[in-house]
Amino acid sequence: MGGAKARDAAQKPRIIFLGPPGAGKGTQAGRLAAERGLVRISTGDMLRQAIAEGTPLGKQAAPIMEKGQLVPDELLIAMIRERIAREDCRGGYILDGFPRTLPQVRGLEAMTGTEGFFVFDVEVPRDVLLRRLSGRRWCPKCQATYHVQTSPPTRAGVCDWCSTALVQREDDKEAVVRKRLAEYDERTEPLVAYYSDRPEFHRVNGDRPADVVLAELQQLLGDER
Ligand code: AMP
Repeated sequence: MGGAKARDAAQKPRIIFLGPPGAGKGTQAGRLAAERGLVRISTGDMLRQAIAEGTPLGKQAAPIMEKGQLVPDELLIAMIRERIAREDCRGGYILDGFPRTLPQVRGLEAMTGTEGFFVFDVEVPRDVLLRRLSGRRWCPKCQATYHVQTSPPTRAGVCDWCSTALVQREDDKEAVVRKRLAEYDERTEPLVAYYSDRPEFHRVNGDRPADVVLAELQQLLGDER
């Protein structure tokens, strides 16, 4: 029974990324998803997409995100419920940016049970986070992310993938970044304590080159493809 459960989880890895904004969750989640053939579910990207499309969810979320606050739990839980029920998630998925509060954890567990998740807590010192976020640039069309110093596009200010002009996200501006970090400390950091005694919880040093972090994540996941 335990073995069957473990095997099932192994065949369908489900991964949660914890860690503050700027820790590199999106980068790592994207690369792991590509290498392991898993779906990456970024709630931030989904919300930005909803805003771009002008949906009712986008209209509700936009002013909250601009202030660096968290969008209400019930909206996020409904969004994730709908997303992970889709066929493409049967082969495993990576949650990037969800759960971010304890009620979201409870919402997720009500959908999926409590077991079988790898939880990666990517930690980076605060001053490094601030540097990373302030240099971050973003493609509003395909959502690719760059950094003016550490991962610039080939042509300055232009997306490598779709040639769209890059912008700084409103919520990467300094005052909003500070608010996002405060929200993290208050509402998301308690999740680290919640998950930390689970066997598949791993704290990962995110203050290293992305390739090194990725190699560690791959090792932690083992051969469970
Ligand atoms: P991210 O791109 O993950 O940094 O998310 C950008 C913004 O989207 C956050 O600052 C929140 O306003 C909102 N957001 C994304 N995921 C969540 C979540 N799980 N709960 C509440 N708000 C979220």
